[in-house]
Amino acid sequence: MNNAIAIPAFKDNYIWLIATESNHVIIVDPGDGRPVLKYLQDNQLNPVAIVVTHQCYDHVDGIMTILQQFNIPVYGPASETIPGITQRVKQDDLITINDTYQLKVLDVPGHTAGHVAYYQSGSTGKLFCGDTLFGAGCGRLHTGLYDEMFHSLQKIAALPDDTHIYCAHEYTQANLKFARHLEPDNQAIRARIERTDAMRARGKITIPLRLSDEKNTNPFLRCHTPEIMTAAQRYADDHGLSSPTDPISTFRTIRYWKNHF
Ligand SMILES: [Zn+2]
Repeated sequence: MNNAIAIPAFKDNYIWLIATESNHVIIVDPGDGRPVLKYLQDNQLNPVAIVVTHQCYDHVDGIMTILQQFNIPVYGPASETIPGITQRVKQDDLITINDTYQLKVLDVPGHTAGHVAYYQSGSTGKLFCGDTLFGAGCGRLHTGLYDEMFHSLQKIAALPDDTHIYCAHEYTQANLKFARHLEPDNQAIRARIERTDAMRARGKITIPLRLSDEKNTNPFLRCHTPEIMTAAQRYADDHGLSSPTDPISTFRTIRYWKNHF
């Protein structure tokens, strides 16, 4: 068994369980311990580790609750202060769990300055990216910098096209409205909106994301395209901002735009 299971939490968070073998699971970003413990008990699963992407409360506040019942290692970013962390990780660290299951660490600063993601290679790679990349969007900048976020997204974009991406929030439907606003003629965005609306109407989640879909529809991965650059220049001109001239300044402009959309 090698699947990821979503446990909904708060308003629109997903806490992911990575099923590694038989009834063992790795818990990703437990912002709330209660639904996790209930799911483990209901399904007779044994947690073998917790991995955490960044310090926001909705990703870490359940760690201590889980540790009260299970004595398991907790992996988290080396440069953030998170209660319960036992192993501090950074770019290129290889985590081995239960001797068999491996995750590679990527530094992806931007949403927070120490944000990390966890990559599992394989026939279809999986990336657990917290609040870095979302469906048709990306995380807001809390303690990281625009340039850092731009490069973190580029790092994700360089993974194989068929990578499945597991982010921590169900934002895809709302993000696609912004994407369509920037690129009204993009047929891939129109098709994805139809697909996404149908999924949400049936109560289905829109994650995992496919990296290839994101490259075709996510404006934050398309800052090098004439369509997004032109839209960003128009917005900057209309709002008295300095006109973007390259992909990084285009990213900065549309991230600002999205905050005010
Ligand atoms: Zn966050």
